[in-house]
Amino acid sequence: DVTNTQGSTFDDLGLKRELLMGLYLAGFEKPSPIQEESIPPALTGRDILARSKNGTGKTASFLIPTLNNVNVRLPHIQALILVPTRELALQTSQVCKTLGAKIAGLQVMVTTGGTTLRDDILRLQEPVHILVGTPGRILDLGGKGIADLRKCTTFIMDEADKLLSEEFEPVVEQLLQLVPAERQLMMFSATFPVSVKHFSERHMVQPAIINLMEELTLKGVTQYYAYVEERQKVHCLNTLFSKLQINQSIIFCNSTNRVELLAKKITELGYSCFYSHAKMLQAHRNRVFHDFRNGMTRNLVCSDLLTRGIDIQAVNVVINFDFPRTAESYLHRIGRSGRFGHLGVAISLLTIEDRHNLYRIESELGTEIQPIPQEIDPVLY
Ligand code: ADP
Ligand code: MG
Repeated sequence: DVTNTQGSTFDDLGLKRELLMGLYLAGFEKPSPIQEESIPPALTGRDILARSKNGTGKTASFLIPTLNNVNVRLPHIQALILVPTRELALQTSQVCKTLGAKIAGLQVMVTTGGTTLRDDILRLQEPVHILVGTPGRILDLGGKGIADLRKCTTFIMDEADKLLSEEFEPVVEQLLQLVPAERQLMMFSATFPVSVKHFSERHMVQPAIINLMEELTLKGVTQYYAYVEERQKVHCLNTLFSKLQINQSIIFCNSTNRVELLAKKITELGYSCFYSHAKMLQAHRNRVFHDFRNGMTRNLVCSDLLTRGIDIQAVNVVINFDFPRTAESYLHRIGRSGRFGHLGVAISLLTIEDRHNLYRIESELGTEIQPIPQEIDPVLY
């Protein structure tokens, strides 16, 4: 999702006018969340370690500060953008040219393996401000002194996790030796494996760390299961409703049909509830979720679609009316992101067929799901 919620604009970021014009020409109206968080520290020259999902706008997160800080009157390479593949190099240089289209005199060069060095040598006799390419070819040019990186003070690694795979890491390390010791290092990635962590610890100075993908955790969530027959599930749910001190609850079913049926049953039992599932229009789902978040109803019945959206402080009970099929789905339903360390209880209704799934999910997540006791201690949620 590339739309931000805080309503900030590119004008608020204090960018130079030619760059703003390029952004608007490219159809960018406001910064995406990763752009909102990474552009301001990047503009000041700080090292950046940023992580967000694919399609969230990481490219412009490093191109905008780079384009803003480039000085076209200086004829040397000022920024190096490393990417792991040729296709991405071409694409990134294209985006760079588009966003920088109104910056008079800007020179962006792309270089990748698989072409002759001679063209690059000729090209590099003319000024280049921003160089985009794959590690091997850039090391070739830099190591031979064809590309002068001695004044290149911005070093960017896109898809940093891939650039730090065994294949590329030694090359990237050598490249880093070719630029000044006083340089800005920016790493963008959708994952932070240990290779990224170690590399950043070795080479970054007090980086701004932007992580828009919070790890889900089961800490603070007490997990119970109860074996019931399929036809007893509604009755069992009714008992839970009467016994538990529910602030707000989310109840998960495994199909859209079952979501609708259960929501109907819950209403008949006299409890207020909303429901949401994948076959409803997105706008409608958003409204339901928004209203639930605002406390307009106590219970929400849904399928797996909410995934990471369930971080609602007020939800203290999650019920798996149907047991999920995978550990990932279980974690997304029950887990909470570190930011919200509040307590909760999760109760899974299991039929006998679910038992293998229970063992597998417990072992995959390294967690314990206990049989439900007669009374659940209110301090747990
Ligand atoms: P990522 O690298 O995080 O996978 P990209 O940088 O490739 O994502 O961006 C994904 C898409 O979003 C691209 O088509 C890009 O043009 C678009 N995009 C990025 N930022 C914005 C923005 N602020 N406004 C509108 N579209 C944007
Ligand atoms: Mg990308």
